[in-house]
Amino acid sequence: MKPRVRFAPSPTGHLHIGGARTALFNRLFALKTGGTYVLRIEDTDELRSTEDSVKAIFDGLQWMGLSWQEGPLPEGGEHGDFGPYFQAERAKRGIYQPFIDKLLSEGKAYHCYCSTEELDEMRRRAQLEKRPPRYDGRCRQLTAEQKAAFQAQGRKPVLRFRMPDDGVTEFQDLIHGSLRFENKLLYDFIMVKASGYPTYNFACVIDDHLMQISHVVRGDDHISNTPLQYQLYKALGWEPPVFAHLSMILGPDGTRLSKRHGHTGVQEYRKMGLLPEALRNYLALLGWSTADSQQIFAPGELESKFNIEGCQKSPATFDPVKLNWMNGEYIRQLSADQLLERALPYLQEAGVGVGADREYLKKVVCLEQEKYKLLAEIPKLVDFFFLPEPVFDAKSVEKVLKKPEAPAVLEAMRKKYAALGDFTEGPLELEARACAKELGLKAGQVFHPLRVAVSGRTEGPTLFRMLEYLGREKVLQRLEKAAALCAV
Ligand code: GLU
Repeated sequence: MKPRVRFAPSPTGHLHIGGARTALFNRLFALKTGGTYVLRIEDTDELRSTEDSVKAIFDGLQWMGLSWQEGPLPEGGEHGDFGPYFQAERAKRGIYQPFIDKLLSEGKAYHCYCSTEELDEMRRRAQLEKRPPRYDGRCRQLTAEQKAAFQAQGRKPVLRFRMPDDGVTEFQDLIHGSLRFENKLLYDFIMVKASGYPTYNFACVIDDHLMQISHVVRGDDHISNTPLQYQLYKALGWEPPVFAHLSMILGPDGTRLSKRHGHTGVQEYRKMGLLPEALRNYLALLGWSTADSQQIFAPGELESKFNIEGCQKSPATFDPVKLNWMNGEYIRQLSADQLLERALPYLQEAGVGVGADREYLKKVVCLEQEKYKLLAEIPKLVDFFFLPEPVFDAKSVEKVLKKPEAPAVLEAMRKKYAALGDFTEGPLELEARACAKELGLKAGQVFHPLRVAVSGRTEGPTLFRMLEYLGREKVLQRLEKAAALCAV
């Protein structure tokens, strides 16, 4: 049978970069093996799950090009034979009930009436006595009278799984190898909350089984849940899926990647101007590599090269500098038309080049293609082409336009360019060099004030192409105006 894998996010925030990596690995695994990649929304946390978050997951996955073959459809409805794909909806339809009944009737689950205070006290005592702070199983053997008494007090029970007291839980993880847990260190986890909602550990097992998931590929922060889930499979007489826990992602300081390290949401990377294909490439290398440590993958190559054997169990470090470098590599590979297409939303957002001729915009945007790392930096780099006047950077003015020779240079260049027949790169440069000679200056002493006068800054695209694209009228106007900024 072909593998069936799933990405099962909880909609309690944005789509985290770690979640996107899990989705990517599941998708790559499915594509490589001819299997199916399912999306399931684990929204059983009724307090923290939100519709906005579901939307953020859909949007994030779609933007990243990680569309799923089976699951809910963003426009409503669903695709696949194993729905509903929202756990809250599955709970509403009573899908979990027969399994609850079965475990209860077989004595593999029981009602627990302990209050929060009692549980806190239990934990405190365990800590004092240096025991692991696990539930002590005091409600395992309640009599009918005890239960009735608790109910009379208005207590609402949770349902706990009866964990075996002895023995070990052992399974093979495709990435971590053999994992072994002493059952006495596990605990009677809650399957159903007092609200009647299933917990993650319970619903996840039932759904993975009912949805015929063959491989559970997820972050290794779930390793500690796996023995609990494994025991539940056994209790229900089911064959557990194969597990593959992906390595942890650390921030540059060696602690687990979190908000403290900066951006963690996929949408934030979109805003910054990452190309989804670059982000995919980067995330693929967080915990996976080819034998020859290939860095950049051509379209379709990740899909054909990905394999679970190449996944490492040691933590991966998220390196924003490398991510930006990789994005720059992808930007350089774009054709002029593609770059314009990708840059347009960022230009529009910044209000730069609105209404400009498309071909002109393309030429301008491509001027510095080899330098870009992020699409969102493009508007600031090209804005002076479109503004009525450049925004002058104070330091550049001080350093360049306040030089004693600057007024004479600007005046001479304005005259030369006004008289120049062919206002293109080559002749524009010849005129500037001639001016330097005539005034007894070095070429740089002419080039620098020219650049600052027309763009407001000391850095930018190739000077004479930039002047050509700006056009005679703007260049002359700006040379004249900039004269006022020079020292008198
Ligand atoms: N809902 C869980 C999470 O978002 C999924 C864990 C799993 O894949 O089993 O972390």
